[in-house]
Amino acid sequence: MKATKTIISTLREAPNDAVIASHQLMMRSGLIRKLGNGLYAYMPIGYRSLTKVMNIIREELDAAGLLEIKPTVIQPGELWKESGRWDKMAGEMLTAKNRQGQEMVVSPTAEEAFTSLVRDGLSSYKQLPVTLYQINTKYRDEIRPRYGVMRGREFIMMDAYSFDKDENDLNQSYDNVAAAYRRIFKRMGLSTISVKADTGSMGGSGSEEFMVESEVGDDTLLLCPNCDYAANVEKASCAKEAPLDNEGKPQVKTDLPIEEVATPNVFSIEDMEKFFNAKPTTFLKALIYKVYNCAIDLSKTEAYKDAKTVTEGGSTYIPESFFCVLIRGDLDVNEVKLAAELKASGAELAEADDVLRLSGAPHGFVGPVGIKIPIILDKSAEDMHDCITGAGKEGFHIKHVEPGRDFTPFLVADVRTCKAGDKCPDCGGTFYMKKGNELGHIFKLGTKYTKSMNVTYLGVEGKPVTPLMGCYGIGVDRTLASIIEGNHDDKGIIWPMSVAPYQVAVIPVMYKDKMKEVADKIYEDLKADGIEVILDDRSERPGVKFTDSELIGYPIRIVVGDKNLPNVEMKIRSEAQATLIPAEEAAAKAAEIVRAELKKLNA
Ligand SMILES: [Zn+2]
Repeated sequence: MKATKTIISTLREAPNDAVIASHQLMMRSGLIRKLGNGLYAYMPIGYRSLTKVMNIIREELDAAGLLEIKPTVIQPGELWKESGRWDKMAGEMLTAKNRQGQEMVVSPTAEEAFTSLVRDGLSSYKQLPVTLYQINTKYRDEIRPRYGVMRGREFIMMDAYSFDKDENDLNQSYDNVAAAYRRIFKRMGLSTISVKADTGSMGGSGSEEFMVESEVGDDTLLLCPNCDYAANVEKASCAKEAPLDNEGKPQVKTDLPIEEVATPNVFSIEDMEKFFNAKPTTFLKALIYKVYNCAIDLSKTEAYKDAKTVTEGGSTYIPESFFCVLIRGDLDVNEVKLAAELKASGAELAEADDVLRLSGAPHGFVGPVGIKIPIILDKSAEDMHDCITGAGKEGFHIKHVEPGRDFTPFLVADVRTCKAGDKCPDCGGTFYMKKGNELGHIFKLGTKYTKSMNVTYLGVEGKPVTPLMGCYGIGVDRTLASIIEGNHDDKGIIWPMSVAPYQVAVIPVMYKDKMKEVADKIYEDLKADGIEVILDDRSERPGVKFTDSELIGYPIRIVVGDKNLPNVEMKIRSEAQATLIPAEEAAAKAAEIVRAELKKLNA
């Protein structure tokens, strides 16, 4: 490609709304242009790299036996009503009515579409297993789109869906995609962290996220330095350690009866430390939580034995319930984990009047003794003894409290927030923390969609059976942006060879006379050799051409200048020094480097 025949429109400054490196560099190098909030167009240079990302994904999935299809971007609303997600995802979906008044959705994801397509064609177990995928445009109505294509409203995603006859086959399909993902990210020069993830609104069990480390990551990860344990902080669990007393020894059981202590101005854990001259590990923190749509059986609890339940979509739940959560004084409750333990849609600290009504005291003086609502005891507090907690009466605490003797928990569960410094549950290593961005995920969905959308096939015994599903996604734009996040310097992008828009840039200092002749020859030789090369034939000042080539980040640059001829200057973008080589060897040398780099990435 000749630079004058494509569009190179670099910017000196990134726009103000670009705050992360990839967004700034994609804008400055002219890879993308903004059309609207969260809406970005790829320009010719940028689209080349995006296409390469898509092709690597495609090649690896095809090699793994997945089948690509091209569903529509616009989907009928009925499919979403059938699966029960029409209302659940209403906020995120862009919908419209067509002229017949039918409701339509701009696809935010495609479980429904794929399930419907498979339902229509599936009759026998002999057609399974099958995994279909698409690389297609999606739209999610993000409230606050940001970071350029990292979190845009319209985006390209690879999404795949497997259909299997049993658990064993599903595990195989899942492992097959996981292995393909590892090859995909490796080929792009990305090193990913594999994280057991929260399944969120997708539902189902058995999931893994492929994260890339990023300072601007949406997720906080806890990692173990000794084993491969890695978890989102929202889900992470850590090893239980013995609760310690004020001397740093394991707490021991007391026979002393509960003693009430007037604590008029003691509200916080810090106040308690001072007042009791004791360590927070000896305090039993009691908090009242309001829980939404709790689906565990509460019929054996005093408070909820007669509670009204709602049955919907195969699950029975109590729309609103309250729990007293107990945790060691130095720790915090993780509301996501709490909600998950209670099979609930959400949990939050109860409001002041509810706390007072249910516990007899405001937060700060809440205690487990005599409380009427069910008690959730965090595992951190399971082995606590002789502890100090609220008296359930404003201005009072109680001492010598013994779990089991003085109160009985309804449930002992892991609901604490784990943090850096906590111990790995698998090997005891000390957690450290990283910020990460999700590039891909894999989920075992089970029968969530095949059941609600009535998909069956005839099994070996001739009876209808519901297939199991898995779903798999990779954010294409986000992957491209992450490659830039991980590969740049203050001058611009440093592309891995596999996704560079062009592998080699040939830059004549001036495109005339002998320089033109030599540059043209190198350009033609490289093209003939199958190397992707751009020749900067613009009449710009040399400085501008050099700056642009560094900003756009071509992996290899060959500069043809009067002063150096018959030599030319070759520079690898990721290296500091340029080298002089004879012009007639330049094309062969560059091609050799390109092939060696690709071989390394594709190995
Ligand atoms: Zn570990």
